Amino acid sequence: MSASVGWWRMSSGKGPCRKCGSDDWYWYRGRCYQCNTCRRKRRVRRYREDPTYRARQIAENAQRRRDPAYRRRENAWARERRHRDPIRWLWFRAKHRAREKSIEFTITLDDVQREWSERCPVFGIPWGNTRAQRPSLDRLNPKLGYVSGNIAVISGKANLIKSNATGREVELVARWMRHRGL
Ligand SMILES: [Zn+2]
Repeated sequence: MSASVGWWRMSSGKGPCRKCGSDDWYWYRGRCYQCNTCRRKRRVRRYREDPTYRARQIAENAQRRRDPAYRRRENAWARERRHRDPIRWLWFRAKHRAREKSIEFTITLDDVQREWSERCPVFGIPWGNTRAQRPSLDRLNPKLGYVSGNIAVISGKANLIKSNATGREVELVARWMRHRGL
């Protein structure tokens, strides 16, 4: 922080939000004294309503993703979260995907916990550290959302093979592969 920026600009506190009056956490940043919820709402509304702002955000995010240092940081953060609490991570990522794709999402951490096992239930192998061996959250019926009773925790590879295929379709692919000597 440079000396020209007052300490109050970057500090956080707890106090009444100037917009909604809640006692939630807020950050002093510039002259914004709104709670985090209000600030997020403001950002979302601006993103929706202001095309210039939206274009700038998209450009900035693209730029950030191209930056190797940013990607390293993001990957390290993801790895840490994944290791610390794999169940929460599966839930969190699914929630994010559901929001992006406008898929129904009503599962709780308990729903994921119930489906969790120490091994991939398809291949019977323990979880590993590659994308193929990592646990992933499958929607049994891809036409439905992340709703209770429609999820399974299977390895990335099993999920990739299953995709949106039916059991019959996977059997046909397997038969064809054997026929071709695979
Ligand atoms: Zn507020």
